[in-house]
Amino acid sequence: MLSVAVVGSGPSGVYTAQALLQQSLVPDVRVHVLDRLPTPYGLVRYGVAPDHEKIKSLQNSLRTVLEDERVTFVGNVGVGGASGAGGAGVVSPARLAELYHAVVYCVGASADRPLAVPGESLPGSYSATRFVSWYSAHPDIGADPFALDARSAVVIGVGNVAVDVARILARGAGELRTTDVPRAALSALEASRVRDVHIVGRRGPSQARFTTKELRELGALPGARVVVDPAELALDPAYAAPDGLPGSPPLPAVVRRNLAVLRGWSADGAAEGPPSAAGTARRIRLRFFLRPVELLERAGRVAGVRFARTAPDGAGGVRDTGGYEDIEAQLVLRAVGYRGVELPGLPFDPARGTVPHVAGRVLREGVPSPGEYVAGWIKRGPTGVIGSNRSCAKETVASLLEDAAALTRRTAADDPLAVLRLWGLRPVEWAGWLSIERAEAELGRSLGRGPVKIPDWPGLLAAARNGDSRGA
Ligand code: NAP
Repeated sequence: MLSVAVVGSGPSGVYTAQALLQQSLVPDVRVHVLDRLPTPYGLVRYGVAPDHEKIKSLQNSLRTVLEDERVTFVGNVGVGGASGAGGAGVVSPARLAELYHAVVYCVGASADRPLAVPGESLPGSYSATRFVSWYSAHPDIGADPFALDARSAVVIGVGNVAVDVARILARGAGELRTTDVPRAALSALEASRVRDVHIVGRRGPSQARFTTKELRELGALPGARVVVDPAELALDPAYAAPDGLPGSPPLPAVVRRNLAVLRGWSADGAAEGPPSAAGTARRIRLRFFLRPVELLERAGRVAGVRFARTAPDGAGGVRDTGGYEDIEAQLVLRAVGYRGVELPGLPFDPARGTVPHVAGRVLREGVPSPGEYVAGWIKRGPTGVIGSNRSCAKETVASLLEDAAALTRRTAADDPLAVLRLWGLRPVEWAGWLSIERAEAELGRSLGRGPVKIPDWPGLLAAARNGDSRGA
């Protein structure tokens, strides 16, 4: 029997568990999927935007894996790092290795990349990851209010996270009532005074990282309109020659589709006027060739962003032109990418924000460390769509299975959960999670809504305790 711990119950963790179940080399396998939170699904629960119901429904297929009889969900158990804000206990990688034949770390990339410009930490400037965590009810954020009294918001970066946060800012809260957005976030979004949302890229439209479906959604928001400046788009040689530049490889399909969407909007943009007199309409401005250099301050808060104007350098990058532009903003969201966090007790490459590995085998001082593996963003960095984690997990599991004969000669605990309890941890098992789900459905019913997320540790643990006779 092969006993494996998977650390992290987001897509990469669950796809790793699934790959272990689906293989036939080692038929007798037992998988414990650990998570620091008492809730499963990682970024599918706490990252995918609440109005992306179709992607959210991926939880149903992840659930099928976690409900397999060979799999046990072990929530409220942190590995390596500090304990959770709600007091999730922590076990070190070394001790975890005593309990299982192999441990696969699928802990994602939970921090945001810094912008590294003056004024970055002024009040009113936040990482987009914090904003996403807030409207997703991540318990480490709690109700931390984003008072949306700003009239103008700047979102820095042109990836899918930037598009997500801009869309949530521009979407009427009425439409979010049908989602699982927590109460405090819904009230703040209802009271929001944000009218202008600027999404700003430092390079051109052909280098933007957003995908076309996500981009198009911005144009379909009721009560909001998208504005792009045709002259700014035309600075991008690829925009001017969508069928490809002579001597250059053809543009990727996603870039061609994005440019076509922007071209359509730029034609509409000619009639641009101020937001409607009634003050209800919101405007999303997509801007390019502006590199943030400083966040501006007034009365101790952020008041705008100073950008250096850039121009294509002919090699996919940009150079400064010497010009500047200030965009007024009382709210700044920095959406410039995620970053992996070092897990104490595991090797870490700070430059890449990943764990060094070969085909998923963790390297310690350049040598594969027996029984230690990685998959997902902590292995390859924060890129790709959710499905990318499936092939990534398969590669890691293939390595693990190649090593299986040696791994099963190591000792593993008969009942790792009992040992974790002996060590003072208080795991929340699947019954506890189901109890949280019931409590969220009940909360939603009491508010006349569908399920509404519980946004704090005490609330989650109290709900979990109702379903777990041993207590969370
Ligand atoms: P991302 O795709 O890497 O985009 C980061 C953006 O920030 C890029 O436009 C980048 O510009 C810009 N940037 C980086 N450093 C900057 C700086 N110092 N100053 C100004 N701009 C800077 O990251 P993400 O949006 O966080 O997304 C992470 C991953 O999650 C992606 O794979 C994404 O597709 C995925 N995701 C998918 C969805 C969805 O499918 N709906 C939703 C959310 C996230 P440069 O290109 O110039 O570096």
